[in-house]
Amino acid sequence: ARRKYVVGNWKMNGLAAAIGEAQAIFAAAQAHDGVDVALCPPFTLVGVMAAAVPGAAVGGQDCHSAASGAFTGSVAAPMLVDAGASLTIVGHSERRDGFGESDAEVRAKAEAALAAGLSVILCVGEPREVRESGGAIDHVLAQIAGSVPDAFDADRLAIAYEPIWAIGTGLVPTVGDVEAMHGAIRGALAARFGDAAQEMRLLYGGSVNGENAAELLGAADVDGALVGGASLTAGKFVPIVEAAA
Ligand code: 13P
Repeated sequence: ARRKYVVGNWKMNGLAAAIGEAQAIFAAAQAHDGVDVALCPPFTLVGVMAAAVPGAAVGGQDCHSAASGAFTGSVAAPMLVDAGASLTIVGHSERRDGFGESDAEVRAKAEAALAAGLSVILCVGEPREVRESGGAIDHVLAQIAGSVPDAFDADRLAIAYEPIWAIGTGLVPTVGDVEAMHGAIRGALAARFGDAAQEMRLLYGGSVNGENAAELLGAADVDGALVGGASLTAGKFVPIVEAAA
């Protein structure tokens, strides 16, 4: 069976003073053996957080596709490992849309992260107009086809479905729509990878909070949550971990 996976994406939030929240979150998570919990702070806090909470799953929010080189401002996957990270997000819509990252680039980043030994959370999701025109599943399956690498350990690659219109808006899809999307993603992965698709975790992201987490996490083919705003404090994040347990 797939273990539930609840991941906080702090985005561009968090100074050193926020490490106490991470300590509280990981301490509370220890009470829930059946749930894997990870936090992805900004790069500046990856090493700080990993050192402050030994054994905690700390991750990046992005990585470059190259292992090193003349890429001012970028961070490479081996650098994340070096700082104590065990995972990274790639392909978040705020990178795809805000920084023009293509499916091919996201795939190259995922490959670089896997090669460095990191686990990967690869994000996909449709904009509002695509949802409204009925094309959401086709859109997401095209992203899956273009951005998921050909070879990986199934337990090291998770997919996060994050409808862009649900991110930071308080809007969430119906459980039926989430199940239809996750079922379609699982089906596409099974067609390409066979049995390994049953081991891959599919997370839902977009306005997850303590009130809606139990319903979303209980949906078919939803193996966890990728949480933005509600992951910044223990008070808001721990109830989501508890809903997964
Ligand atoms: P919110 O939980 O703030 O909607 O963000 C979701 C997200 O983008 C997580 O990666």
